[in-house]
Amino acid sequence: MSAMRLLDRLAIATLPYVPKPLMRPLAGRYIAGETLGEALERLEALAERGHPGILDVLGEDVASEAAARGVAKTYIEAAHELARRRLDAYVSIKPTHLGLRLGEQLCFELYDEVARATAELGLALRVEMEDHTTTDGTLRVFERLRAEHPHVGIVLQSRLVRTPADIAALAPGPLWVRMVKGIYLEPAAIAHTENEPICEAYVACTRQLFERGASVSCATHDEFLAERLIQLVEQLDVPRERFEFQVLLGVREPLWELWREAGHTVRVYVPYGPEWKPYSVRRLQKNPQIFGHVMRDLLPWR
Ligand code: FAD
Repeated sequence: MSAMRLLDRLAIATLPYVPKPLMRPLAGRYIAGETLGEALERLEALAERGHPGILDVLGEDVASEAAARGVAKTYIEAAHELARRRLDAYVSIKPTHLGLRLGEQLCFELYDEVARATAELGLALRVEMEDHTTTDGTLRVFERLRAEHPHVGIVLQSRLVRTPADIAALAPGPLWVRMVKGIYLEPAAIAHTENEPICEAYVACTRQLFERGASVSCATHDEFLAERLIQLVEQLDVPRERFEFQVLLGVREPLWELWREAGHTVRVYVPYGPEWKPYSVRRLQKNPQIFGHVMRDLLPWR
């Protein structure tokens, strides 16, 4: 293994232990800032460039019911601001941020609260997907919400072998899905671990969703996968309003413009909040070269 690769590996392993002040400048490209005001400014700038948005308050695994209730309140306030500024954007929430690990009923009640508020404001709401220990609970909460709130969507991960069966098991009716590869590295017994089968499963799941009439937001920065998805949309003659691309702030912007110029909607995920470190660690682990460059610059023998 080359010295550069070794340094990148070292960078990945040590990322969670990097002190916040050193991490902050690296994280800057992936997060809008620590405040709602900064996130709204970023969404407005993106809207001017023709990109609708998704607003995410950073955080996960709250430690108490009070904290979970606080998160729901923060999201409702943020949704009011999105509506007040007439932004084409919606809110997206992790189940453990709304207390899934503390109790499924609590999590359902808090999503329901946000769903009622967003419905009144005419905004959508997305239930995100976390690691496999939360999949069953998240799908149960989603199905309960969906029965009352058709503006609530879910995220499904092509990495998980179970996903086609999960799609088949969802109740009939309108369905709105964000398809992703899945950011959490899962055990080989339950997940595809190589990129090729993950992409095959992604295309197959997207086809399965279109064939049952769902709207699908394809979240990816993989241009080869995107090409196959565009072909699928053309082959199935899916109307434009049932398909869009979604991308993360700071990741592969030239691709966004390419897809937008080809006539596709490219919606940008804008995370913000004081709890930015775990999110940034995951993003930087996907792209260790950035961190590797910084580390190398600090080395005395460079
Ligand atoms: P990859 O093969 O991972 O990446 C394709 C190319 O993009 C590669 O060249 C890669 O280097 C580059 N790239 C990818 N990420 C970065 C980065 N951070 N920095 C620089 N380059 C990068 N996952 C979940 O498990 N649950 C969710 O709820 C969820 N929501 C998401 C919402 C949105 C809008 C997006 C875009 C992704 C979301 N993800 C979620 C993450 C997703 O599962 C993937 O981990 C992530 O999108 C990377 O996979 P990819 O399809 O871009 O392909």
